[in-house]
Amino acid sequence: MTEPLIDTFGRVHNNLRISVTDRCNLRCTYCMPEEVVFLDRSQLLTFEEIARFVAVAAPLGIDKVRLTGGEPLLRRDLPRLVRMLCAIPGIRDVGLTTNGILLADQAATLHDAGLRRLNVSLDALDPQRFRQLTRRDGLERVVAGILAAKRAGFEPVKVNAVSIRGVTEHEVVPLALFARQHGLEMRFIEYMPIGADQWERDKVFLAHAILEMLEREVAPLVPVDNYDPRAPAMEFRYTDGGGKVGIIASVSRPFCLRCNRVRLTAEGKLRNCLFALDEVDVKPLLRGGAATEEIAAVIRKNVMAKWEGHEINTARFIKPLRTMHAIGG
Ligand code: SAM
Ligand code: SF4
Repeated sequence: MTEPLIDTFGRVHNNLRISVTDRCNLRCTYCMPEEVVFLDRSQLLTFEEIARFVAVAAPLGIDKVRLTGGEPLLRRDLPRLVRMLCAIPGIRDVGLTTNGILLADQAATLHDAGLRRLNVSLDALDPQRFRQLTRRDGLERVVAGILAAKRAGFEPVKVNAVSIRGVTEHEVVPLALFARQHGLEMRFIEYMPIGADQWERDKVFLAHAILEMLEREVAPLVPVDNYDPRAPAMEFRYTDGGGKVGIIASVSRPFCLRCNRVRLTAEGKLRNCLFALDEVDVKPLLRGGAATEEIAAVIRKNVMAKWEGHEINTARFIKPLRTMHAIGG
């Protein structure tokens, strides 16, 4: 391996999140506006361009890749991309984050293609609440997708829920019980200012309140022993053997100083932070047949330019122009 991707704060970057489309079959209020103009398909990176990028990044230390979007399962023939990425030397882990709507049909094929890490987003088990949040129907399809993923052999299946005070607060316990019943790992994510809606700090249902609620109404929790300090989720396990829970305290306990991620948007923009205000267009390099060293130098420079952290908790915070669906969550 050549020099690893280290930034000016000493953070080593090994994790790449790739958005494969900005399109989505849901319209979650906290993620995107109701009316959206999506990218033209010709603007998206092809699978070959994505794989080239990953092949350049892998020798720089990128060994973990996660496919996201928009809704990644809307991208036709996604298992082919999974196979291409799994075959790249140095890539030891390919994951996917999906809303689960199309998962029941695709879970087994994705597993066969080599995908092992799977996160399904589900914020509410109450159908009306699901519709309110996603502006669409589909709760049953998501649940069917999660159960199909278990049957296909994904282990663990992680379920991500955004925690919004007064909106999804009452879903925390039902979701935790659902996860325990089906052997899933529930992960609650603090609501972040990255959607089209009006974010306010008071709307964040904070990590400590989630934990208190789970301990009070579900079962006692203790931190897991083999906790990975670089992972964004604080991990806990139920002392009664009921499985694990993750809490992603992006607002109340930012993990920026341990961040190991870079992101590639669906149309080939490299971002060194979810909240980055600048991005670098690598599509012309990939499409124009640039040399490996040239692309590697651009990745390295982007990582070096990474700031200390997102500053959500300060008056200096500036919300990026793109909303979450267009960045890749
Ligand atoms: N469509 C897929 C899905 O929903 O899983 C993948 C893309 S989505 C942008 C990735 C993750 O970002 C989801 O788990 C979603 O809940 C999360 N997300 C979106 N907007 C968010 C926000 N404002 N705060 C916290 N998490 C958010
Ligand atoms: Fe779509 Fe995922 Fe955003 Fe919901 S969170 S609108 S499912 S991209």
